[in-house]
Amino acid sequence: MLKRQNQSNALGVSSPSAPFATIINTQTEIPISCDECDCETHYPIGYLRTLPRLTCGFCRDSREFSQLEMHVLETALKQMGFFLAGAK
Ligand SMILES: [Zn+2]
Repeated sequence: MLKRQNQSNALGVSSPSAPFATIINTQTEIPISCDECDCETHYPIGYLRTLPRLTCGFCRDSREFSQLEMHVLETALKQMGFFLAGAK
């Protein structure tokens, strides 16, 4: 599942509450934890938005990335002050 502290690390910030809005682009990579081995594989946000089937880079377990997870991810990013370029 998604882990917020890891998302913030991937974006190069240490605080979960950014002082101002930061625009990120669709190439920004987000770590997604594997359900099986808990290792993280990084995917660009633009790729995740296509709701792809994700394959773990460590144990090769694969699963669907759901619309709900995409929504949770975008909501978490907004709460941290990040706005996705081109977001509706
Ligand atoms: Zn795995």
